[in-house]
Amino acid sequence: QPTVGVLALQGDVREHQRMLAAAGAQSTPVRTPAELDAVDALVLPGGESTTMWRLARTFGLLEPLRRRVAGGMPAYGSCAGMIMLADRIEGGVAGQETVGGMDITVRRNAFGRQVDSFEADIDFPALPDPQRPLHAVFIRAPWVEKVGDGVDVLARTAGNIVAVRQGRLLATSFHPELTADARVHALFLDIVKEA
Ligand code: GLN
Repeated sequence: QPTVGVLALQGDVREHQRMLAAAGAQSTPVRTPAELDAVDALVLPGGESTTMWRLARTFGLLEPLRRRVAGGMPAYGSCAGMIMLADRIEGGVAGQETVGGMDITVRRNAFGRQVDSFEADIDFPALPDPQRPLHAVFIRAPWVEKVGDGVDVLARTAGNIVAVRQGRLLATSFHPELTADARVHALFLDIVKEA
């Protein structure tokens, strides 16, 4: 059984652990470089990417995270976690850094004030039971503005890209961990098992 970590600097860590359990995997929080070394895969939760970045720097985790992701560790980021996995961000605070690894440009808080938070049923054909729409929860969510050649677009809402995969890296603008549907986590665990 692979060991799945959840980056636990800030954000909805427990919700991801609950969903991973629902999808059949035990998981462990990751706060230190030693804890990162001990996992085979990592979930980066939703929360606040500026805070997550600052804490990752403070805890000496940013470089180790970059090395693991660049070295092929499977990773899944939701919302702020998607921002952390993006090579480029728009609308970040001054100096905001990411872990990177995905050849995407992500716009923070892209949906704007009017629809600060919303829910939508989206088509996500890469999931198990592909005919069944996924109920997606967006909270001050980013969208993906540009994707590089190696990136697969997995889902859109109103034309905007909200789920992407590049090899072993998966990211969603929304929060499946806040619903009862574990299919995105199941997809990630399939990626982990293949790796
Ligand atoms: N707007 C947040 C950020 O920039 C992300 C919001 C979320 O994770 N729900 O990090």
